[in-house]
Amino acid sequence: MLEQKINEFFGDSEATGFGTGWWSGILSAFFGFLSFGAVLCLHFPQLLSSPELRVHYPMHTMRVLIQCLIVAAILFGVFSAIKRKKKILALSGMLLAIAATALGGASVQINDNLHNGPAIGLDWFLLDLLLMALIYVPLERLWPQYPEQGTFRDQWTLDVVYFMSTHLPIQILSFLVLLPATQATKYLGVPVLQEFIARMPWLLQFFLAVVVADTAEYFIHLALHKVPFLWRFHAIHHSSKALDWIAGSRSHFVDDTLVRGFILVPMMLGFSQTILMAYLIFVTLHATWTHCNFSPNAKWLEKFLVMPRYHHWHHTSQKEAIDKNFAIHFPWIDRIFGTYYFPKEWPERYGLAGEEIAPSFLGQTIEPFTKRKRTP
Ligand SMILES: [Zn+2]
Ligand SMILES: [Zn+2]
Repeated sequence: MLEQKINEFFGDSEATGFGTGWWSGILSAFFGFLSFGAVLCLHFPQLLSSPELRVHYPMHTMRVLIQCLIVAAILFGVFSAIKRKKKILALSGMLLAIAATALGGASVQINDNLHNGPAIGLDWFLLDLLLMALIYVPLERLWPQYPEQGTFRDQWTLDVVYFMSTHLPIQILSFLVLLPATQATKYLGVPVLQEFIARMPWLLQFFLAVVVADTAEYFIHLALHKVPFLWRFHAIHHSSKALDWIAGSRSHFVDDTLVRGFILVPMMLGFSQTILMAYLIFVTLHATWTHCNFSPNAKWLEKFLVMPRYHHWHHTSQKEAIDKNFAIHFPWIDRIFGTYYFPKEWPERYGLAGEEIAPSFLGQTIEPFTKRKRTP
């Protein structure tokens, strides 16, 4: 297994708590990797940056960020190298940061005259990875529900590949989902409804948008479970045996496209572009959070808003909870349709019940298209 090889290469048998040089080694390697990738984006912006995003970058801030990543990779690397016997993690981080500096670091000038055209969204992958990891990994390390399940659990590399697969081809995704959506707003929008909604307070508009989105999501999610052909695609999302922030990324592109499309179409009838964008940001943050290995719970809130424990019950392989909890934002939508299941404790196990799927990203991408039966 790839994870085992990585563990053998970078890991050791020393303690991994705070102050042992373990996390500083991880941070050094992570920041080194990000800074090296970011400098590559500066060198080849036409090829490695997303046309949709590059026009919005505050370049001064981005350069400061790259410089900070380089400095942090070196500092954490030095600390980790002093603290730990095995120094490969620290050395990798420092080497990547030094390579980034040797390539010109944060001050590489962009000389190209950038134009639209095919590009890889490396910039979006690096930025979102940094942002999501900074938000969710500390939450999972500080308050985990399953402390023995580390950040680098089984199959984490598979989920990183899934994360890459939804970020690198950003143009394909935005072409498949966002572009038709924004174009369709012109045709689908119902002016009377749009004007009526636009007069409401912003917060109410947003709340209504989430209700509409989650209701639409409920039905497409139900179909993904109940229609055998669709389940083949959705089974991949349910194959994670351990849930955390990045496990939520494991999803077939057909599944993603269907869900996004199904949600956006009804929203385009009456909501503005700003509300649509606000919803896209909210769904990314909230959906990622509900997959987190995160224990704290607010009893008063969990009846109204999906918290991690609620969505974890959707992912269990325990018989009593199969085909329950389809809503991703509001549990009361499941109550209305009779698919609510929320006992006091957490589930004991996760994954598919009595079903096997291909282990690799490529296998999982192809397999649902070839014939296969769901065995209950
Ligand atoms: Zn599901
Ligand atoms: Zn999920």
